[in-house]
Amino acid sequence: MRILIVEDEPKAAAYAKKGLTEHGFVVDIAANGVDGRHLALSSDYDLVILDIMLPGADGWAVLREIREKKQTPVLFLTARDDVADRVRGLELGADDYLVKPFAFSELLARVRSVLRRGAKQASESLRIGDLEIEPRRRRVSRGEKKIDLTAKEFALLDYLVRNAGEVLSRTLIAEHVWDMNFDSDTNVVDVAMRRLRAKVDDPFEVKLIRTIRGVGYVLEEPLA
Ligand code: CA
Repeated sequence: MRILIVEDEPKAAAYAKKGLTEHGFVVDIAANGVDGRHLALSSDYDLVILDIMLPGADGWAVLREIREKKQTPVLFLTARDDVADRVRGLELGADDYLVKPFAFSELLARVRSVLRRGAKQASESLRIGDLEIEPRRRRVSRGEKKIDLTAKEFALLDYLVRNAGEVLSRTLIAEHVWDMNFDSDTNVVDVAMRRLRAKVDDPFEVKLIRTIRGVGYVLEEPLA
């Protein structure tokens, strides 16, 4: 994942770059609006982190130009907790914003959430074996057969498919699908999983969801 940081304060830029690099991102820095605009338009980034107060071209101008020409997600940084600024940025097509000063953990959380959203929109359909899901239309099928799922069942399947091949613990599933902690009652996950399997696996010969005892679940295409 490549990120461009457009920020004229060297310390702030270096701080963000260091943290993001440690989390596996490849990061470039532009120290003014002109360079930022050039890099954002001429190169393919997964995300642009854009400061608004910049020498050269200000962040609004850069944002406007990026939006005219590209779909790259933009997270903008605003110095004040100013509602008018936030509205303006979002109206210009930014995906999210962060008020300065911020903790790195906050930046990382925003970056991840913007990237997740982007990935969801980008993928028209996901396929594992003969299972196909279309996130935007919430459609699921196996082979020719359409499968009707509730919203929760869909969210659960979507999460499994996006992490296909990875063993997911009940706690992790609970956090992602229900957006809360089920520490004490992870059998909510088991119940939901049973209902999902009844629709997605039981009627079919090839089973895609496996229980990993004592750990959780994995969805994958079984080896032939
Ligand atoms: Ca600045």
